[in-house]
Amino acid sequence: MKCLVCGKTFENIRECPMCGFPVVEIAGDDFEAGIKALAPTIDRFRKDLAAKTKLGLVTYRYSLEDGKIIDEGENIVPLGDVSLNMGKEQWLRTEFENVRGSEGFSAEVEVTLNNNRYRKKINVVVEGYSETFTVGFTVSDNFELTFLLKGNADEVFRSAPVPLFDD
Ligand SMILES: [Zn+2]
Repeated sequence: MKCLVCGKTFENIRECPMCGFPVVEIAGDDFEAGIKALAPTIDRFRKDLAAKTKLGLVTYRYSLEDGKIIDEGENIVPLGDVSLNMGKEQWLRTEFENVRGSEGFSAEVEVTLNNNRYRKKINVVVEGYSETFTVGFTVSDNFELTFLLKGNADEVFRSAPVPLFDD
């Protein structure tokens, strides 16, 4: 089954392993009425989960020393908690170099929730070549993250929505 709050798929347990929302059984055959009755509770769980979930963008730094490229390791750019980004488009101030040419843009987002920390890979297909990108993102109210990319032209390219809590 899929969690009503965060969209995580799980089997045979009484509550969602990600957000703790219980499996709810409703007697009767009126699914819509059941969902309506549950809506305030789902909303409360979603707000709580959004406030507890932190996002970061994984970046890699390189520097040039004596003509050699030095790998300075990775860095996590904090993107704030999900409640700040839900339903809103946020753009980072940094411009990123386009290292993949016209193949598009691939990014990793680090998700932190309680003691869980993991990464999600997100690809954006870009048409045309651009030397640098401005990166933005948004999170829908069912916890799907969409990456936004703006190249030299002002056209915005979007990734497919990626569920933050499900595979
Ligand atoms: Zn859940």
